[in-house]
Amino acid sequence: MQDVLHALFFVTAFGALFLAVIGAEYLYVRKTGQTGVYHPRETLANLAAGFSYKVVDGIAIALFIQAFYLSVYEWGLQWQPEASVLSILALIVFIDFCFFVNHVMMHKVRWFWSGHITHHSSAHMNFSTALRQNFTFALSGSWVLWWLPAALIGFDKDWVLFAIEGNLLYQFFLHTVLVE
Ligand SMILES: [Zn+2]
Repeated sequence: MQDVLHALFFVTAFGALFLAVIGAEYLYVRKTGQTGVYHPRETLANLAAGFSYKVVDGIAIALFIQAFYLSVYEWGLQWQPEASVLSILALIVFIDFCFFVNHVMMHKVRWFWSGHITHHSSAHMNFSTALRQNFTFALSGSWVLWWLPAALIGFDKDWVLFAIEGNLLYQFFLHTVLVE
C-alpha cells in the first residue's frame, strides 16, 4: 500500500511539473503568434489520457512490476554493479536501448500497437502530446521488455525504476515542435 501511495505522490508531483511546462509552452506559442500548435479540447483529452495512463502504470509498478522484477532477478546474473558514473551511464544507455526495442515492438505487434496507437493519433506536436498515452500499456505486458533485461543482468530495482522514469521524463521534452 505504501508503494501505491508513493506512486500516486510521484504522479501528482510530475503532473504538476508537466502542467507548468505545458502552460508555459502554450503562453509562448500565443505570444509568438503561432497557430495550430494547441487545440484546447485535444489538450484536455491528452491530459486526461496521460493522467489515467500514469495512475494505472504507477499502481502496476507498485503492485506487480516490482515483484516481477525481483523474482526474475533471482534467476539472473545478479551482477550488482557498484554505484559509479560508469555503471549509472551504462544503465541509462541500456534502459534507453531496451525502450527502443520495446517501442519497435509496440509498432510491429498488433496486440501492443492497439495500446500504443493512441500516442500517435494526434496531428499536433506539443508537450501535451507526450502525455497522450493509453492506460492499457501496463496491462498489455509490453513493459516486460523494458524491465526484464536489466533484472536478468542484475541491476538494482530502484536504479532501474529511476532510469525508466528518467527516460520517460526525457522523452516528454522531445514532443514539441519548439525544440529543434
Ligand atoms: Zn511509437
